[in-house]
Amino acid sequence: MHLKRRVLVAIATAALAVTGITAPQAAAAPHRTIPHDFGNGPERNEVAATDPGAGARRAGPSGDNKVGVRQGYPRKTQLRVYQEDLTDKSIKLGLTPYHALAPRLNALQARSNRISVEVVGQSGLGRDLYMVTLTAPEKSNVTRQQDAWRELIENDPVRAARDHRLDRDYKAPVWVNNNIHGNEWEGTDASLRQIEYLATTKDAKALRLLEHNRVYFNVTANPDGRVAGTRANANGFDMNRDFATSSQPENRAMRDMIIGSQPVVTLDEHGYNDGTLIEPTGPPHGQNYDFDLFIKHGYANGLGMEAAVKGLGYPEAQDVVVPFRDLPPGEWDGWPPIFTAQYAMYHGAVSYTIEIPLQVNNSAYDTLPVEELRRRSAINTDVSEATIKSTLDYLGAHRVELVDNQIEIFRRGAVGEAQHYIPDGFVPGFGPEDRYTTEFPRAYVIPAGTTQRSATAAARLVDHLVTHDVRVRQATRGFALGGKTYPSGSYLVDMHQPKRGLANVMLEAGKDLSEDAPQMYDIAGWSHRLLWGASVDIVRRGDVRVPSRPVVTASPTGGVDAAPGQDLALAVRDGKDASAVNDLLGRGITLSRRADGTVVVPAAARVAAREVADRYGVRFTLAPAGSPGTVLTRPTIAAAVAADELFALRDMGFDVRPVSTAVLNGGFDLSRVDVLIVSSGWRYDQLTPAARASVDALSTRGGVVTRGATGSRFNADAALLSVTAVPGRGDANGIVSVDNADASVLAGALPQSFVYSPQWFTGLGAGVRVEQRYVAGNPLIAGHWLPNSDGSGGPLLAGGQAAVVSGVSARGARVLMFGTEPMFRAHPKGLYAQVAAAIYWGAAG
Ligand SMILES: [Zn+2]
Repeated sequence: MHLKRRVLVAIATAALAVTGITAPQAAAAPHRTIPHDFGNGPERNEVAATDPGAGARRAGPSGDNKVGVRQGYPRKTQLRVYQEDLTDKSIKLGLTPYHALAPRLNALQARSNRISVEVVGQSGLGRDLYMVTLTAPEKSNVTRQQDAWRELIENDPVRAARDHRLDRDYKAPVWVNNNIHGNEWEGTDASLRQIEYLATTKDAKALRLLEHNRVYFNVTANPDGRVAGTRANANGFDMNRDFATSSQPENRAMRDMIIGSQPVVTLDEHGYNDGTLIEPTGPPHGQNYDFDLFIKHGYANGLGMEAAVKGLGYPEAQDVVVPFRDLPPGEWDGWPPIFTAQYAMYHGAVSYTIEIPLQVNNSAYDTLPVEELRRRSAINTDVSEATIKSTLDYLGAHRVELVDNQIEIFRRGAVGEAQHYIPDGFVPGFGPEDRYTTEFPRAYVIPAGTTQRSATAAARLVDHLVTHDVRVRQATRGFALGGKTYPSGSYLVDMHQPKRGLANVMLEAGKDLSEDAPQMYDIAGWSHRLLWGASVDIVRRGDVRVPSRPVVTASPTGGVDAAPGQDLALAVRDGKDASAVNDLLGRGITLSRRADGTVVVPAAARVAAREVADRYGVRFTLAPAGSPGTVLTRPTIAAAVAADELFALRDMGFDVRPVSTAVLNGGFDLSRVDVLIVSSGWRYDQLTPAARASVDALSTRGGVVTRGATGSRFNADAALLSVTAVPGRGDANGIVSVDNADASVLAGALPQSFVYSPQWFTGLGAGVRVEQRYVAGNPLIAGHWLPNSDGSGGPLLAGGQAAVVSGVSARGARVLMFGTEPMFRAHPKGLYAQVAAAIYWGAAG
């Protein structure tokens, strides 16, 4: 594949020469190794959520936020001003600290009628997120017309394509996102310069641009990380991995900015990559795109940005990497919709990740002299600004084409047109390795009623799709489709819709990419259909005109299906069930747990049960006759886990104390802890004797849940269960088929799971139970999983082996070990309940 790529690059260079496009370094395309930043891979097993730097501190806003009049432009907002924070990490670099943004934007709003500022949400720590819009002033009727055209483009692209007034007068939107990684600062400063320039210049070309376009800036997507100098947000999430899941408030704000502004072009400004990096990506490209419509402008504007960056004349920014042209498959791919740029493409944007050149974060931040850091940051700011200016020039020159391009993306979706075949050389260098396509089903159906394994999960999925601007309808009558009958209230995703690519990228299984690339940049598998717990049917063909209404939010699912005076039961099959149980426990209600894992609620707690049923959408049923089981009190959990797992555990309402080797050695008291969870930042052999003794004491009475290599090592070091953990290849990840035939604690688990750095268990000693197995053969459904170069660690070796085991240790601990990833980046909602079940089992002995 690498060799082939180089050949293609040579052909591309020849083609460029013929077409006269200047791409001076197309000829020199050495294999570049692109560094992968922390947080993307198996190293997440090493840093516990409690470790220094995993989060940021709470901010202290002062004053009020007054939102201006909503009609027309400008939309002035008197931004609340935050207290000066001299610890803001931007300051050392000579860049703009967060607290200086509001005063500066307030002052610009006072000076200019071309700038609007709106507060579009708050960060995890409560800092305001600013969307700045630059456009020529608009009377409210003009804005209404612009809104109507934007809606028409999405909702009736066939008509939009014929609307000549729209072509002439629609203001094409572009969206510039900055600083999503908090310690990649300069996009914010570059955008501030462009904001100030566009707001105050008298240059005729700039004024013309603002007559015909709207330029939106997300000034900083990650204020908490900017201040703290962390890549992640305050919850420890890499937000440029969260778009498909949108677990974080900042991601939801970005999602809503994209949907609301419907940009034809987006830039996502990052750092740091030697020489600068400008997308389009290399393959694999997402298979749900109308990629011809993306790459046509995507490559041309990418080359324009490259030329602009080189034109600055900095030696440090001459060797620009354009992954589409320069990198082999998997080195910098565009497969998962977890990144800003790849997600925005599903909303009709030609979009880019930009990496400015000179490192100023991490070790450089701490070791380089201040003058050198400031020199680098100044160059980085210039480079970032050059990409913005160049893109605005491209927008100025190609506005109508870019709008028509977006209309065509939505039109193909709405009419259900097949993706177009893209011939080799469609743009210079496009070859077979770039060709990724899919066949869209006619519809997906999410059944209502008794056939649905979890109505809660169905509602969660529907709400997720709708908030991402996927159209979902709810049947007002029963109907038949694809050889099945469905009750009234079932949900239908008609795949003839403008954003069918986004719908499908969430609902399809995906693809096993193991043969397509030697490795991938990040994950290669996810699926809201297979991992979120809802039953979803695929309908290949048929008449989908079902009596139905559009869904704004899913129907409520909670209820109590038993007469007053009866004990109630709740099977923990979903994270929401756990939330309900934890809520009841938090009210001091005594529950019990039956041997089959069902939680029993006494009849006297009926009012509380009704409340939590409504709050979490869960259904209580009549408790079975017989013993209510053992008493279940609210478990206290100590967790040496990664930040995403801590977030998921708290999302389920568990009372969790984050710990690590250091925290325990510092004297953390385990005596009141019921369950210990170990997956990250934990070494039993590095505990002090006192700390080890406290762990051993817990191991005689409580529960232990482990995950991954760190958890398995703890199991071995502390001699808990008699098993051998076998590691799969470290970067292997994706959706796997699992067999739950022998499950006890995990009874009712989904037949799919998710893995990243998978593990399996062999040599099971007496009393160790297989809770879940990888299915025999190749268990990978979608993702990327190759063996190591020595043949070990591959999926065929995992096939048939234990993926999750449980047992009681010699000392008496109830131990459950995951070789899978049930809480990875808060994505696989349908797997959360496995962790909850393990905790209740561990606690209720
Ligand atoms: Zn970044």
